[in-house]
Amino acid sequence: MPRQTIAHIDMNALLHNYQQAKIAAPQSQTMAVVKADGYGHGMLKVAQTLAEVADGFAVAFVDEAIACRDAGLTQPILVLEGAHSPEDLDLAVDYDLWLVMHQPEQIDWLIEFDRTLMPGATKPTVWFKCDTGLHRLGLSPQALHDALNQVPSSYLEKAVLMGHFACADDLSNPMNTQQLMQLNDLAKKYQLPISMANSPAIVADSHSHGKWNRLGIALYGAEPLNQSSATQSNVMLKPVMTLKAAIIGLRHIQSGEAVGYGQIWHAQRDSVIATVAIGYGDGYPRHAPCGTPVYIHGQLVPLVGRVSMDMITIDVTDLIQVPIIGDMVELWGANLSVTTVAEHVKTINYELVTRISTRVTKTYHNT
Ligand SMILES: *Cc1c(COP(=O)(O)O)cnc(C)c1O
Repeated sequence: MPRQTIAHIDMNALLHNYQQAKIAAPQSQTMAVVKADGYGHGMLKVAQTLAEVADGFAVAFVDEAIACRDAGLTQPILVLEGAHSPEDLDLAVDYDLWLVMHQPEQIDWLIEFDRTLMPGATKPTVWFKCDTGLHRLGLSPQALHDALNQVPSSYLEKAVLMGHFACADDLSNPMNTQQLMQLNDLAKKYQLPISMANSPAIVADSHSHGKWNRLGIALYGAEPLNQSSATQSNVMLKPVMTLKAAIIGLRHIQSGEAVGYGQIWHAQRDSVIATVAIGYGDGYPRHAPCGTPVYIHGQLVPLVGRVSMDMITIDVTDLIQVPIIGDMVELWGANLSVTTVAEHVKTINYELVTRISTRVTKTYHNT
């Protein structure tokens, strides 16, 4: 039997979360963001599951978009980083991709590309991204103005004005309103529809909903809002990924003995230690501290000792049901939210699900 280290992917939960986002933003089209292998859930499986319902898809770069087209998706596919080089414009036409224009060089490439087109040839669909304060990608208001005046007017017919929040998970942050106001002002000035909202804004800030919203982490059922904001959304998400691994070792140790590399944890009492077949080589974070919860037999028990490449050790002394070799442990998922684990590890749920390595078997279920 293959190693039972498995990311169980619940396709019904995925569909449920997509529908929840549609209900939360009924006037908007909702793009399913499937970049980074569908946030670690399997890009093509996720996209194919949503193929009947999704208004569109979004990916980071052209290669990801081509993989989606080759898999047979027919919806719009938006490339969030746009063209990395002039050649990407040819690919955008060949594969019918939508490109985000966020950098003046990309505007130059587009104008040059357009000059070489035969009369009547298909033109790529482009969005214009404005930098409203994240200062990562986006045209300045002046560069946006220049771009909209320079590109042939045919590109403006299908164009969308896009922005991206810097602090969307924190509903009380005044930056959100500032960024949205700036984008709305520009949209009014240039008579363009907008796309601003990502997951936290979709579930909790209806003012930000635009012609298109971009649904990422919430599609996968992970909490998009920070702890103090989370109560302000009544969207019910279902976790899509449940990460599981089997117990392959069990031992009794005495009080005072240490477990694992570097002996960072010493038992305070006589203890039962289970060794579980998952480690940082599988994407379980090496920096998970002692005390990070795992779920087994209806209880939460703590990680103890250092995470190794292929294994972790957990303290199962307090388990009511005595564990045996082969019992499955849940690292996160249906019974233990990935957000809780992320808080222990001092990272975010996005990083944990995205970093699951290829050595973990993904299984797909319609529960
Ligand atoms: C990844 C990404 C999204 C999705 O964000 P979530 O917070 O996961 O919903 C939206 N827009 C852009 C520009 C992105 O890069």
